[in-house]
Amino acid sequence: MVKDYIHLNSQCEVKRTNFGARARRLFLLKAMDMPVPRAVLLSIDAVKKIQTGRKIDTGGILDVFNEEDIFSVRASPEHWDWGGPQTILNVGLNNNKFADLKIKLGETEAISLYLRFILSFSIDIMRIDEQLFESVISKRPTEAMITTALNVYEEEMSSPFPQSPNDQLEQVLKSMIRAWNGTTARILRKAHNAPEDAGVAFIIQRMVMGFGKLESGSGVAQFINPIDGSKKVTGRYLSQSQGRDALERKNSLFLTKDKRGRSLEEHMPKIFEELCKFGSEVRVKTKDELELDFTIDGEKLWLLDAAPARRSAQAAIKVLVDLVEEGIIDKNNAVKRVEPRIITELLHPQLSPLAKLQVICRGVAASPGAATGQIVFSSKMAQKLALKEKPTILVKLETGPEDIRGMHFTKGVLTERGGMTSHAAVTARGLGLPCIVGANALKINFKEKHITTHSGKIFNELDFITIDGTSGRVISGKTDLLEPTFNDSLKTFLKWAEQIAKIDIRANADTPNDVTIARNFGAKGIGLCRTEQMFFEDDRLLAMREMIFADSNKERKVALEQLLPMQRADFMKIFKIMDGFPVCIRLFDPPLHEFLPRERQEMLELAEALDLSVGKIIDRTKELSEFNPMLGMRGVRLGITLPEIYEMQARAIFEATVTAQKAGMLIVPEIMIPLVSAQKEVELIRSNIEATASAVKTETGTEFNYKYGVMVETPRAALRAGDIAKSSSFLSFGTNDLTQMTYGLSRDDASRFMRDYVAKEVFSEDPFRTLDKDGVGELLLLARDRGRAQNPTLSLSVCGEHGGDPTSIKFCCEAGFNYVSCSSFRVPIAILAAAHYELGK
Ligand code: PEP
Ligand code: MG
Repeated sequence: MVKDYIHLNSQCEVKRTNFGARARRLFLLKAMDMPVPRAVLLSIDAVKKIQTGRKIDTGGILDVFNEEDIFSVRASPEHWDWGGPQTILNVGLNNNKFADLKIKLGETEAISLYLRFILSFSIDIMRIDEQLFESVISKRPTEAMITTALNVYEEEMSSPFPQSPNDQLEQVLKSMIRAWNGTTARILRKAHNAPEDAGVAFIIQRMVMGFGKLESGSGVAQFINPIDGSKKVTGRYLSQSQGRDALERKNSLFLTKDKRGRSLEEHMPKIFEELCKFGSEVRVKTKDELELDFTIDGEKLWLLDAAPARRSAQAAIKVLVDLVEEGIIDKNNAVKRVEPRIITELLHPQLSPLAKLQVICRGVAASPGAATGQIVFSSKMAQKLALKEKPTILVKLETGPEDIRGMHFTKGVLTERGGMTSHAAVTARGLGLPCIVGANALKINFKEKHITTHSGKIFNELDFITIDGTSGRVISGKTDLLEPTFNDSLKTFLKWAEQIAKIDIRANADTPNDVTIARNFGAKGIGLCRTEQMFFEDDRLLAMREMIFADSNKERKVALEQLLPMQRADFMKIFKIMDGFPVCIRLFDPPLHEFLPRERQEMLELAEALDLSVGKIIDRTKELSEFNPMLGMRGVRLGITLPEIYEMQARAIFEATVTAQKAGMLIVPEIMIPLVSAQKEVELIRSNIEATASAVKTETGTEFNYKYGVMVETPRAALRAGDIAKSSSFLSFGTNDLTQMTYGLSRDDASRFMRDYVAKEVFSEDPFRTLDKDGVGELLLLARDRGRAQNPTLSLSVCGEHGGDPTSIKFCCEAGFNYVSCSSFRVPIAILAAAHYELGK
C-alpha cells in the first residue's frame, strides 16, 4: 500500500516520485548523510485525497517529532518549475513553547519568533486583513504586541488563536493546498506546461532555530554566478535569523571574502569550508548546481533545502557545459535538459528581470526579443532617426514589402493587424527583429500620428515604448534590456545537439547577411530563399517597376535584363557562403501590385522616373490590385502568364552556378516553384527551365546539375502529390499558405479572433504557430505517401514558419521528412528540438 506520508529517514521502499521534486532532493541529501533536520513528507496522492475531502492525519504526521519541536511546511511540487505556495515557518509555536523559548533563546528572540508566527498564520493562512495588525507590524517587537495580535486574531476569527500544533498544521496545509489550486498559481504553472491536475506534496520539517547564544543564523548559498554561470560562491548569511532573512536584510554577511563587507568565510571559516564541501558533493550527486538553504544552530551547520540554483539562460548553458566537461553528466543529458525557450532568450535582447513594467496592451508574440525606442509611423522616419543613432519602434497597421527597408533601421515592429505568418511577423523573424502583431487593442491614428490605448492613454510619435516580442507585451516608456549572447558555451552546446539531431535544419534566408547568420547558427543549407525580397532594394525597385509597366514581352525582357546581373550577383554571394550545402531558391511569388507605390506623391515620382503619365501609373495599379492578394495572380501563375520573369531568374541561378563551379565551389542549386495547384503548371515551368539550363550550358560550355521541385502550398497540390512528384525531385510544404488555404483563414487577419479561439479551446493552438497535426498534418502525410509511392527518392520538407516550432518539428521527424527550414534566428532552436525528438524516442 502506498503510504500517505513517510518519515524522511524511512527505510521502507517508497515511490519517491510521489513526494515531489523538493522531497526527492531531501531523500538524496539524507542518503548522503548530510545534516538534514528530521522531516515528514506528505505525498502527492494524499494531497489529492485531501482536496476531495479526506481528513488530514496531523496526529500521525507529528508523531515522529519531539514534544518541544516546531516545524516549517514547504511545498514540494512534482516539477521544480511549477512553483508552489510560500514556506511557512515556526508552525507549532504556542504560549507554552513561547515560555520555553524565552528561557532557551532569551526574551527578545522568543518574542520576535512568536509574533512573526502569529502574523504569518493570521495573514497568510487565515487571510485576515494585514491592516488590522498595523500597530504591531514593522515595529520593535514587545510582549504586549503578542497580546494585541492574539486579540485581533480572536476578534476576527471568533475563536482563540489555535494552541494545538495539530490544529495549526491542519490549517496551514489546507491553506497551502488552496493556494496551489488558486487561479494565479494555475496560470503560472500552465506557462511551464504543467497539466491541469499537476500535483504537489508537502514537507513538514523540524525547525533548527537559527537563534541562540552560540553562533546561530541562517543563509542561502549557491556556487555559481547566476548571471553568467561562472563558478563563484554567492549568497548571504545573517546571524540570529531564519528562513531567507539573510537575503532581505542589509546587515547580512557575504559568504566568501568580499571587498564590500564582512563574510562568513572570515567569521566562521570551518563552517564556510564545510558548506562549500557539502555544496560540491551535492552538485556531483544531483548533477546540477544548487541553491542551499542552510541554518547554523549553536555552531552546527544544517541543510534545509537544495533547490536548483537561480540562473539566467546564459548561466544555464554554461553550467551544463561545465558539468559535461567535468564528466558529471553526458552530452545527451545536457541537451535533454535545455528547453528551447532558453535558446530563444539567449539569441535576442531580453527585458531585465529587475525592470518595473507598465504594460499597455498585449498582441501576438510574433518574433522574440525585446526592443525599446521612439515610436515612428513610417519606414522613412525609422531610417532618418537611425542615421542619428536613435532607436525606434516602427508602428504600422500592417507592413508590406515596401517596409522591409525601414525594418532594417528600426529596433522593433508593432502592428495593429496580422498574425503569426503575416508579412511583419515573417520578415521580423527573418531579421531577428522583435515584433508584436495583432495588437488590436491599440488604435493607431496615422493622420494625427498617435496611438490610443484601450484605457485612453495617448502615445505620440517619438514617445518611447518598449515591446517584448517573446511575450507579446507592449510597455510604456524606456526599459533596460539584457543583450544577447552567442558565446563559446552556447556554440559547444549546439554542436552537441547537432550531433544528436537526425533531420536536417535549413534556413529561410534571402540576403547574404541572413545566409551568413544562418550558417553561423549551424544551418545545413538554405531551404527557402524568397527571391522577391531582392527586388525591394532601391536600385532594383525601379527596374522591377519598369518590368511591370512593360507593354510587350520584348519590353519586359529588356527591363528584366537590368535585373539579371543583380540577381546573379546575389546568388553568387549566397553560393559562396553556403559552399558545399544545398541552396533552395524559390522563384518569384508575390502579386506584382506589391511593388507599386501606394501614395500619390510616390506615384508622381514613379511617373517621372519611368517617363509615363500619372494616369497610366494609376490605371496599372488599379488593374493589378486584388481584393485578396494572397489568392490571385501570384506564384506559379505569374510564371505561366509572364514567363520572362522565371526565365530571367533561372538564368541568373545557372550563370551563378557556373561561376561558382569554376571557382571550385560545390553547388547544386534547387529551384522551387511556389503556389502550384496542377501538374501541368509543374511541367510547363519545368520545360522552360530546362530550356534555359541547356542554353546556359551551351553558352558557357559548362555542365552543371540542379534540382527541380515544388512548394506544396495549396490543398490541391497536396492531394495531387503523386502526379507532381513524377516531375519533381523534392516537395517542400509551404505550411503558411497551406494552413491559410486548408482552414480558409487569412494569415493576415486571423489575429482578430485567434486569441478568443484559443482561449475558448476551439483551436488548441494558433495553427499558424504550431502545425495543425489533424488537418494540415493529414494533408502532409497524404502527400508524403502519394509522392513517395511515385518517386521513392522524393525529398520532403517543411519551409513554412512551422519549421522553427518545436512541436511541429517533432511531427516532421516522426513523418520521416528530410529537413525543416526556418528563419535564421530560429535555427538553433530547431536543432535543439530535433535533438530532443531523438532523445525522447
Ligand atoms: C509558406 O507559404 O509557407 C511560405 C513559406 O511562403 P510565404 O510565407 O513566402 O508565402
Ligand atoms: Mg507561401
